[in-house]
Amino acid sequence: MLVAHIKAGKERSFERRHPWIYPGAIDQVRGLAAPPVPGETIRLVDARGRFLAWGAYNEHSQLRIRLWSFNEDEVIDAGFFARRIAAACARRAGLRERSNALRLVFGEADGLPGLVVDQYDRQLVMQCMSAGADYWREAMADALLACTGLCDIYERSDAAARQREGLPLREGVLRGAEPPASIAVREDGILYGVNVREGHKTGFYVDQRDNRRLVFDLVQELRAARAAGHRSGPLSVLNCFCYTGGFSLAALKAGADEVISVDSSGDALAQGERNWAMNLSQSPAPVPGQQVHWRDENVFDTLKAMLRDERRFDLIVLDPPKFAPSAHHLDKASRAYKELNLKALQLLKPDGLLLTFSCSGAVSVDLFQKIVAGAVFDAGVDAQLLRRLAAGVDHPMAMTHPEGEYLKGLLLRRI
Ligand code: SAH
Repeated sequence: MLVAHIKAGKERSFERRHPWIYPGAIDQVRGLAAPPVPGETIRLVDARGRFLAWGAYNEHSQLRIRLWSFNEDEVIDAGFFARRIAAACARRAGLRERSNALRLVFGEADGLPGLVVDQYDRQLVMQCMSAGADYWREAMADALLACTGLCDIYERSDAAARQREGLPLREGVLRGAEPPASIAVREDGILYGVNVREGHKTGFYVDQRDNRRLVFDLVQELRAARAAGHRSGPLSVLNCFCYTGGFSLAALKAGADEVISVDSSGDALAQGERNWAMNLSQSPAPVPGQQVHWRDENVFDTLKAMLRDERRFDLIVLDPPKFAPSAHHLDKASRAYKELNLKALQLLKPDGLLLTFSCSGAVSVDLFQKIVAGAVFDAGVDAQLLRRLAAGVDHPMAMTHPEGEYLKGLLLRRI
């Protein structure tokens, strides 16, 4: 059996139950008869040989060990993963009323470092981002089928993070049948088509569920304010980095008069357009005369052009891709976030609303707020913070693993 001896003085991270061990904390690894299989189970002990934790060992990764358990009695076997997976699925049961697009397992937060599982209706999509998840992949797949009663698992272990782990990219059917080109899911009464083979992440931004709902509610409130005579004119929404139109559909369903959706991916826009078409026949019937525009453009150029044309919006969503993949990119990323936010603020009507996001793990909640505050100042506008935004409850963060927090956002009102 593999045993990692942790250096004296490095036990603190165990006291804090942090799930990652870097090479600098390891004194030596014993039991290496042959080169270890990546992801093999390892016992961690302190300098005096006392048990600390069980983990998965990967000598090709800077994240040398990811911890499974701090309980010495726990046996790391198929049953262990079945229990953890069943618990993770059970925690999401309450969300099923709202949606059949759910994140069932979210890595470290569910005690399963490196494993991500999303469900789209009757299709499961699994992502293994660590050697440990890879090593137990078959057992995890069996456990997923057993606890959901489903038959189909598609694997999307194609995230760049795998390269840092020294793992090859892998994609394809893991259990059951090939997924269809588009799976229809229903969230808060709205239909979204998801392409699990080619879409981003596992096909859809499941994490934005609550914020899509918020956009729906805000657009309804704006309509009510207009009905009460507090606003006038058509209700216009601009969705920047719209991907397949998640926020656009929420705004349209809530009755926005005009929704302009901008993305640089023609495929994503085409899916967005199809997604809206699916909803046209659903009740309640769409508001007559809605203007729906899908624009294949670079958002930075769009915002400039719209300012030149003196366009104004009631609500703008900014949900750009991860500008800072690591701390090295912070300066450049901060400038990009600031430019976007500055221009979006200037494009808002008085009392218009901005939902602005960053999904860069390297950009903290604090830093993001500072960047946006800088944009408010430089835009020469006044703004109120109405709400802080985050991923849905199926994307929790373990309190012992703050690195797990990635999606952050602010809801601002320009005044
Ligand atoms: N808001 C989306 C997710 C956005 S993901 C949702 O809720 O579903 C980021 C998107 O930004 C991707 O679809 C990508 O194609 C797009 N993108 C990246 N850079 C862009 C740019 N400069 N201009 C326009 N779109 C861009």
